[in-house]
Amino acid sequence: MQKTISLFFLLISSLYCYSNTGFNNKIDSVVINDGPYIFIKDSILIEKNIINNKVITSKLPISSKKINFKPEHSSYTGVKKIAALSDIHGQYDIAIKVLKNNKVIDKNLNWSFGKGHLVIVGDIFDRGDKVTETLWFIYKLEEQAQKSGGKVHYLLGNHEYMVLHNDLRYLHTKYIKSSKLLAIPFPKLIDKNTILGRWLRSKSTIITINDKLFVHGGISKEFISNGFNIDDTNRLMRESIDRKKEEMKTVPFYKKYYGTNGPIWYRGYFKEGFNEHELNNLLRQLNVNHIIVGHTSQNEVMQLFDKKIIVVDSSIKNGKYGEILIIKNNKFIRKTIEGCKANFNR
Ligand code: ZN
Repeated sequence: MQKTISLFFLLISSLYCYSNTGFNNKIDSVVINDGPYIFIKDSILIEKNIINNKVITSKLPISSKKINFKPEHSSYTGVKKIAALSDIHGQYDIAIKVLKNNKVIDKNLNWSFGKGHLVIVGDIFDRGDKVTETLWFIYKLEEQAQKSGGKVHYLLGNHEYMVLHNDLRYLHTKYIKSSKLLAIPFPKLIDKNTILGRWLRSKSTIITINDKLFVHGGISKEFISNGFNIDDTNRLMRESIDRKKEEMKTVPFYKKYYGTNGPIWYRGYFKEGFNEHELNNLLRQLNVNHIIVGHTSQNEVMQLFDKKIIVVDSSIKNGKYGEILIIKNNKFIRKTIEGCKANFNR
């Protein structure tokens, strides 16, 4: 009898412990700040901020903010100075440090790269807890760059497409809490009736600047086996944001654009067996001399095949370190978080 009773208590207490160490309770005890999320409603804007777990809502005139964003162009020429980094994954502080120490921004976080172009090669979303800060910072920088005759390109990576399609597997728990506090499902915070959502929907997946192509994952021979048109690809990817994943999966589109050989997921350049002959064919078909990718994480900015491929995912996502690629007068320069020049190790 006693044994039965103690077993009963053991069971009850383990259930109790289980429920108290559960995922939700952990987020509930954290105080968060997030936003703004700005919703476009007929003739007004509704701005929501979370300050110390409290939702602050305000109404703004519709004319107070830009609400329409034209699709970005796919190709740029005559650019003298380029900076590129990728896979920030919510690590706002590291990204700021890298940009500041390499003089892309000044000490007040304003654009200081003149007529240069900054390329964010995808994946601002997921993993880290300062995604919203990063998005609004890039948003502001884009406007400042434009005014200086420069340009910020924020290319969409697989994590942008995942989150926009409600695949929240890698979302930091903070944003689950934001969504709960706001009582709005997460995808609705960035849907096409929000400023961030419309801005994201104007972005490209692939761009060329001078003789260089920038894309999050990479371009595979399978992807361009039936020809390649950069404008069509960007348009199809943009349009796919508001297509249902289930519907896309019923047509070949999904495998081609969202599959492992597609531009946002491809990792083929790092696989054994990928050789310079295949790369030269790709470069010839794409009509470029270099491909710059993120997505496949390294410890630093790295090059492959005599700088025909440059990898700019320097694992900023770990929140400890990061690097940036600077291209000046067609020369590739690897720069550290401190702003020092470093040699390419491969
Ligand atoms: Zn990625």
